[in-house]
Amino acid sequence: SVFYKKLPKVELHAHLNGSVSAQTMEKLIQRKPHLNIERNMTAIGKGQRRSLDECFEVFKLIHKLVDTEEDIHTVATDVIKEFADDNVKYLELRSTPREEKGTGLTKKSYVEAVIKAIQQCKYDGVDIDVRFLVAIDRRNGTEVAMETVKLAEEFMLSSGGLVLGIDLSGDPKVGHGRCLLPALEKARNCGLKLSLHMSEVSSQLEESELLLNLPPDRIGHGTFLHPEMGGSQPLVDQVVKHNIPLEICLTSNIKGKTVPSYSQHHFRYWYQLGHPCVICTDDKGVFCTDLSQEYQLAASTFSLSPDAVWELSERAVDCIFAGEAVKQQLKQKWTEIKPGLL
Ligand code: IMP
Repeated sequence: SVFYKKLPKVELHAHLNGSVSAQTMEKLIQRKPHLNIERNMTAIGKGQRRSLDECFEVFKLIHKLVDTEEDIHTVATDVIKEFADDNVKYLELRSTPREEKGTGLTKKSYVEAVIKAIQQCKYDGVDIDVRFLVAIDRRNGTEVAMETVKLAEEFMLSSGGLVLGIDLSGDPKVGHGRCLLPALEKARNCGLKLSLHMSEVSSQLEESELLLNLPPDRIGHGTFLHPEMGGSQPLVDQVVKHNIPLEICLTSNIKGKTVPSYSQHHFRYWYQLGHPCVICTDDKGVFCTDLSQEYQLAASTFSLSPDAVWELSERAVDCIFAGEAVKQQLKQKWTEIKPGLL
């Protein structure tokens, strides 16, 4: 409804290629008709569910459609404008730099294309502050992870504060965090923030124990961290002690079948603890959602009052990776908007 749309919002967990809308997908399909990919193959519609494995097949198709600098620029520009239209005031986009031999795309030109799109949107006056997290795909192992961190460090130093950190993502059933630890430590030591997918599936307990020792600055999902889900109290205690915010992606977890229903979502557990939780979309294109809808789902599932929803969006500002000055600017924005909305 109007309230959720008008609510100023912060988006901290959005994978670029998972966030491509139906309209943008049409443009990409027209650029590459020979691939014979149709729009319904790149999205999981209302009421549909897939296994997590099937979701990762969808990303493979999207990657075929997005394989030039121009594609990356198009996709990033459209995604940023769509989030801005949904009243997202601050966005941390994340994406895995890819090399495509056939088109000359390199990991460096990939990141450059995203940064150019961010700068162009700013120049065009789009009302949103956008930052970038460079993603490590866990399946690619130690060396690629290390290269990715080097690339991220270069851009952190040269992008004027646009590149803020590292994301660890990819198929949670493939690879082990153990191999990625040296790269993540290096990232942390050079001042890159860490947002790590953790305990997205139940078999990641030992890995989560290891990664929590870094500790990360934010956790993606964290579905199986608490005892009721086969996690452990010491894990919960550590997350609480370090006050590590959780990025909560309701629809993604339901459609990817890692959580059986909205009401059983682990948001309930962490929210009741009073722990910082940030409502996010994950892949708004693939899962056919937007951030307003995710806030509305959280409110209706967990009976949150408008005041509680407001507080949820305001508290998300405390969890961003940009510095104190940006937080203050955003808080100011929230203060200005509040009287007209509540
Ligand atoms: P990209 O990094 O912009 O290409 O966005 C797609 C990629 O994000 C996928 O190939 C995965 O590596 C990652 N990703 C998207 N959604 C999820 C998720 O729910 N769990 C883990 N990784 C994900």
